[in-house]
Amino acid sequence: MNVLRRPQPNSRRCFSSSSASHRTLGPFTLNTFRTAQERDPGKILRLVIFGKPGAGKGTLSARLVKKYDIVSLSTGDLLRQHIAERTQVGLEAEEIVAQGKLLPDEVMLRIVASKLDHIRNKHWILDGFPRTVGQGELLDAHLKKQGTPLSLVVNLDVPDEVILSRISDRWVHLPSGRVYNLSYNPPKVDGFDDETGEPLTKRPDDNPVRVNLQILSFRLTHEQEIFARRLTQFYASTAPLIAYYSRAAQMRTRLPPPPRRAHPHQLTFPRAHTLLLETLSGTTSDEIWPQLDDLVRRAFPALKETTTSLETRRRHSLGDAVLAAGMAAVSRSES
Ligand code: AMP
Repeated sequence: MNVLRRPQPNSRRCFSSSSASHRTLGPFTLNTFRTAQERDPGKILRLVIFGKPGAGKGTLSARLVKKYDIVSLSTGDLLRQHIAERTQVGLEAEEIVAQGKLLPDEVMLRIVASKLDHIRNKHWILDGFPRTVGQGELLDAHLKKQGTPLSLVVNLDVPDEVILSRISDRWVHLPSGRVYNLSYNPPKVDGFDDETGEPLTKRPDDNPVRVNLQILSFRLTHEQEIFARRLTQFYASTAPLIAYYSRAAQMRTRLPPPPRRAHPHQLTFPRAHTLLLETLSGTTSDEIWPQLDDLVRRAFPALKETTTSLETRRRHSLGDAVLAAGMAAVSRSES
C-alpha cells in the first residue's frame, strides 16, 4: 500500500535522483520512493575487480558502464587526474606512480572514500582498489559504517605472456583514461585520441617488456624494472587479498548453482548481503566479457541497461530482421 507520510526526523531515507518530484511533494514523501538499496541491499552491485596490470580491468569496467547503469571508479585514473591537475595528492603521488610503487593505504582510502560517499545508492565498480589487505580492511570498515557492503569480487586470470605483450602496445589518452592498443584497438589516427584529437601518451609505468617473466632476473632497463616491480607487487599483494575475500565470501552466502533440472534460462538469485568471489579466465577481454556479463546479470537482476545499450540492441535486431527479410525475398525470387 502506498501511504503518504512525513519523513521521520532520523530517517535514513536518501534521494539521490528525481529531485523534481521531491520538490513537488514538499515535506511529504511516498514510501515507494525508497532507494533500491533500502528495498533490497543485496541487489546492489558493489564490485571490486582484481587483475594484473594490463589484464583488462579498465576495458571490462568500461564495458559494464557502457551497458549498465553503473558508476566506475579507477584509482589509477583518479591518481593520474590528480597528477595532471597538480593537486596536493598529485604532487605526492607523481614520483610513486612513475616508479610503479604503491601509495600509502590511508591516502588511498581518503581518495576513494570521498568518491564512494557520493555514490552510496548506486551500482558501482572499483578498479585498482583495494591493492593490499590493509586497504581491503579499511574499505570494508568504511562500507560497513555506511551499511553498503561489497557484493562481488572478480579476479581476472590472464597469463603473464599475454599481459607483457599487451602492455607494450598500450597507449592512453590521459585526461579521459581512454586506452588504445596498437594490435587490436588502434586509434583512428596514429598517436591521437579518437574523441578529442589530443595526443596519446605512454603511461610512465607501462613499458615495452617483450621478455618472459622467468628471465626478468637478468639485467633490465630502468623501465622494464618498473613494470616487473608492478607485476611482482601484484603477486605479493593480490594473493593475500584474494584469500582475504574468499574467507569473507565463505562467511556470507554464495551464489547458488542453478537447480539441476532448471530451464536453461532460469535465473537464480543470491540472498541479500551475499558476497560472491569469482575468477574469470581468458586471454582477451573479448573472451572474458561474456562471462562477466553473464555473472552480473545472473547475480544482480536489478541492474538496468543504459538507454544507449538498449537502443544499440534494438538497432541490431532491426538490422537482423531486415537482413532476414531480404534473404527470404532473394530465395523466393530464385525458386
Ligand atoms: P593502475 O592504473 O591501477 O595500474 O594504477 C597506476 C598506479 O597508481 C599504480 O602503479 C600505483 O602507483 C598507483 N595506485 C593505483 N591504485 C593504487 C592503490 N589502490 N594503492 C596504492 N597505489 C595505487
